[in-house]
Amino acid sequence: MFIFILKKIRNTIIAIGTIIRSIYLVGLQALNKRETILYPDKDIYLSDKFRGKIVLTRNNDGTERCVACGLCAVVCPVNCIFLQKNEDDNGRWYPKIFQINMARCIFCGFCEEACPTLAIQLTKDFELSSYNRNNLLYKKHNLLVSNTGKYHNYNFYQKSGLLKTNKCNLKCKNKLVDTKSLLP
Ligand code: SF4
Ligand code: SF4
Repeated sequence: MFIFILKKIRNTIIAIGTIIRSIYLVGLQALNKRETILYPDKDIYLSDKFRGKIVLTRNNDGTERCVACGLCAVVCPVNCIFLQKNEDDNGRWYPKIFQINMARCIFCGFCEEACPTLAIQLTKDFELSSYNRNNLLYKKHNLLVSNTGKYHNYNFYQKSGLLKTNKCNLKCKNKLVDTKSLLP
């Protein structure tokens, strides 16, 4: 009986101690700086590496960067990119159809890494939710933006197929190379 009473007293003391400790710890946190951000009234910080909404960007001169090579669609692990190429009067390829099923996209960023022209880019925009699933099928007019995105001074056709020598003077600079002549 005596041992039973001792156990009861001990358990009561432990319970009261635990409550006091909890109140103390909660009190300490109450004095700390608030981490809650009043989104959407206040902007939240997102790292430059954040991967959100996908866009198709343009060159500085306003031309489309995408050359419909299909590398992004091939590398996409969830197969959510579909495109169909067309050719303009100069023989340059461009996507006649380009669509991304954003309901399937996992924002891995592989498409951006695979793209040779830096056309496809993931942005910091994460407000993509919709009540209608059909709205998550982004078509070309939803994806194509009027600016260069993250990479301002890159133009694929100003870098590729150009003659480069160790002693390049003004004459040889930017001289076009017939890339077919480089084939084995
Ligand atoms: S971010 Fe990943 S999942 Fe989304 S479209 Fe690009 S490759 Fe596909
Ligand atoms: S977005 Fe880039 S990788 Fe995809 S088809 Fe266009 S050029 Fe090729």
